[in-house]
Formats: sequence, structure tokens, C-alpha cells
Amino acid sequence: MKMHSYWLDTATPSGDYTHTPVPKEVDVAVVGAGFTGLSTAYHAARAGKSVAVLETNTVNWGASGRNGGMATTGLAIGFRNAIKRYGERRAIGYFREYNEAIDLIENIVQEHSLEVDYQRSGKMNLAWKASHWEGMQKTAEALKRLVGQPVELVDRAGIHREIGSDVYHGAMVDPLGAGMHVGKFGHELGRLAIEAGATIHEKAEVVDVERIGSGTVHDLKTTRGDLRAGAVVLGTSGYTGKPFGWQRRRVIPVGSFIVVTEPLPQQLVDELLPNRRMASDSKNFIYYFRITPDNRLLFGGRARFALSDPSQDRESGEILKKAMHHVFPQTRDARIDYMWGGLVDISMDQMVHAGEHQGLFYSLNYSGHGVQMATYMGKVMAEVVSGRPEANIWRDLKNPWIPGYFGNPWLHLRAGGAWYGLQDKLS
Ligand SMILES: Cc1cc2nc3c(=O)[nH]c(=O)nc-3n(C[C@H](O)[C@H](O)[C@H](O)COP(=O)(O)OP(=O)(O)OC[C@H]3O[C@@H](n4cnc5c(N)ncnc54)[C@H](O)[C@@H]3O)c2cc1C
Repeated sequence: MKMHSYWLDTATPSGDYTHTPVPKEVDVAVVGAGFTGLSTAYHAARAGKSVAVLETNTVNWGASGRNGGMATTGLAIGFRNAIKRYGERRAIGYFREYNEAIDLIENIVQEHSLEVDYQRSGKMNLAWKASHWEGMQKTAEALKRLVGQPVELVDRAGIHREIGSDVYHGAMVDPLGAGMHVGKFGHELGRLAIEAGATIHEKAEVVDVERIGSGTVHDLKTTRGDLRAGAVVLGTSGYTGKPFGWQRRRVIPVGSFIVVTEPLPQQLVDELLPNRRMASDSKNFIYYFRITPDNRLLFGGRARFALSDPSQDRESGEILKKAMHHVFPQTRDARIDYMWGGLVDISMDQMVHAGEHQGLFYSLNYSGHGVQMATYMGKVMAEVVSGRPEANIWRDLKNPWIPGYFGNPWLHLRAGGAWYGLQDKLS
């Protein structure tokens, strides 16, 4: 069994950027070579800016190369919660932004004929409890009426049309959700950024940042050389570190974990997920799953509130294996070929936070919904650094720091885990 991402293991990097000389001066420096950073670089370079992407590790090393590969519709907090919090008009706007984000991925894939196994096969939300199914029906009604979203409900009696499992009380299917091979997509996005004129610098950790004057110009110190940037965009998600204290205090990194089986027989795959939907369920300790392009079952989840490192990944992977056998008893004999984890960037309100703080631009806090949104926010941030802050729909959201949080997530993870576990039991 391999203890690293299936997506990265089955994708070829577009190049080796560990020795590319760091330029002395650029219009835009992007910190982080995930979807946020690479998409910002691609769009900003296309618009004529000189761009350097600085990355501690390698392209796609972070959450972008480790996720479930699901570009799904909707907000992390759910549509009806968004209405309660922000009112109908704003909730509709926020929800539609995710549709736009999937459309952007599709446009990039089509414009460049990318071979990234992109498929708009739909997303399915599954009700873990009867009470969740009641809520799901209300959500579907609201989505159809207020957004015009073409969601469909599948009750328990008809659930085998969608999933070979008996544990769920019903499902809401959104045909606008999509899946792709995120390893290939990340590497292709890097290639497109370079073709547009950007440079990528792997093994170039930004260790210090100093604002020059009162505008957006900054001097950056990296482990491979220093540079001056007219603007800096932070796309570091759950890996946001010390030089960026203000942002770091607003991101709790939470581990999410995945196991992937060996390739399964066609007949079994057709039974498990006959329509190849991207799927997730309604628990706080969520399970999410899909079929990979080569017919494996990818099964992920929060498993428990923990960070990601080799021992946490293995422990969480074992929990997930049991969960997978519970949801899909037909997979009991399937070998597990991959097990890994990564960090999701949660905020206090589980909303995207993007904008400018003291001259530094950032886009963070996708709260587990960043495949589409990180890619999309790269395009938005390329506009924002060009003087169009109004392109960023999230700019007016308050971005509170997490009380008592200075960058050590363990205490918060334990408290958060206990709280969410209790909610799952009570709901
Ligand atoms: C296991 C898992 C499953 C998920 N599943 C899904 C899913 O199915 N669908 C979905 O929509 N979302 C999912 N997500 C979330 C999604 O993957 C992320 O929201 C998204 O990839 C974030 O992209 P990003 O570019 O902002 O950050 P990342 O991809 O995390 O990239 C950040 C990069 O910044 C670099 N960095 C950090 N600090 C510095 C520094 N000082 N200098 C230089 N570089 C630095 C890091 O090395 C890292 O490579 C999942 C996440 C995980 C972990």
C-alpha cells in the first residue's frame, strides 16, 4: 500500500522547477503552487503581468493534489444556513459563485483540450439520518425556487438507482457537479501558467515578508533568493505559516483522509455508483466517495479531528476502511492500494475569505470546497491585483480571528472534534 496521494502517483509533473532562478523583481508574487496560486499565476500572466510562483514543496503538493477530485456545487455551510445568515439575495449570489467556478474549470479544460478526466457526472448529497433527509427536501425546494438549480431528489425506495448501499435515507442529486483527476489538472495548470509567461519556483519557501511603504509592494525572502513584488497573493490554504500571522490566525488546518482501493471489476463499480456521481454525506464527520478514472473506489472522510502526518494518516485510514466496509459491504475483499491525508483550511464561519490586508492579497478558507473555488479565486485574484476589487464577491465578509488561536491547531481540533461528534449523534 502506498501512503501518498493516488492523484500525484498517477500524474506526470509538467517539469522540474526546483532550480529555476528566482527573479529579482516581478509584478505579482504568488505564494503557494496549489490551484489558487497556479490559477492566479495563469490568469495574471495572461493579462500581461510578470508573475513568480513560490512554493515550499513542489507543484500541487498541498490539498490540491490530495483531495477527492470533486468539483461540487454549493457552499460548505449549506444553502438554507446561508439564507439564515446572509439573507436570500446574498446567499443566492454566494451559491451561484460555485456554479461559475465549475464552469471556469470546464472552460479551461475545453479551451486547452486538457486530458484531466474531467466529467460533469453530477454530485450527490446523501442523508445519513431521517432528519437530514427532511432537511434535504427543504433545501432542494429552496434551490429550485430561488436559484433555478436543477437538483433531483431520490428517496430511500429508489436509492439503488444511484448507490449500491442501504445506509442512506435519501439523496439530492445535482447534475451540475463534476469530477476530475486533480493530479493531472494541477500539473496542467502549472504548464499553462508557464506558457502564459509565469515562472514557478519549487523548494522556495517564503520565510519573511516586508511591506515597502503603504501600498502593495513587498520584499520577500525565500530559501532560494529574495525578490521585490508589486503585489503578493497568498494561496497557502491549510498550510499557511508563520510569515503570515494575520492570515494564519484565521485558518484552522483540519486533516481530511482518503483510502483508494485496487481497480474493481466493472460489474461492482456499476453497482456501487452506477451514474459515477461525486458523493458525500450529511454528517459532520463526513464521508465522501467517487469512482476514479481507472475504476477504483476512492473513499474519504474527516475520520477524526486530527492533523495529517504519516501516523495520523494511517490511523485515520484504518477508520475509513471500516467506514467504507459499512457503507459498501461489497468492498470487504478489495485491497487498499493508497492511503493519505491532507489539510483542509477551515475558518470560523466556514466561508471563503479573500481580499487584502495591509497591502497583502490572500484567498483562503475554502473549508473543504476548494477544487472549484480555489481555481476560480485564482482568476478573481488576478483581477483584484489589477485594481478590480469588486470582482471578489467575498470581500465584504467579516473575517474574524479564531479566539485564543495563535497557530497551534491541536487544542481547537480536540474541542471541535468533540463538538461535531456530539452534533452528529444528536441531529
Ligand atoms: C483530503 C482532502 C480532500 C478534499 N476533497 C475535496 C473535494 O473533493 N472537493 C473540493 O472542492 N475540495 C476538497 N478539498 C479541499 C481542496 O483540496 C482545497 O480547498 C484546495 O485544493 C486549496 O487549494 P490552494 O491552492 O488554496 O491550497 P493548497 O493546494 O493546499 O496549496 C497551498 C500551497 O502553499 C504552499 N505554501 C505554504 N506556505 C508557503 C510558504 N511560506 N512559501 C511557499 N509556499 C508555501 C504549500 O506547500 C502548498 O503547496 C479536500 C482537501 C483535502 C485535504
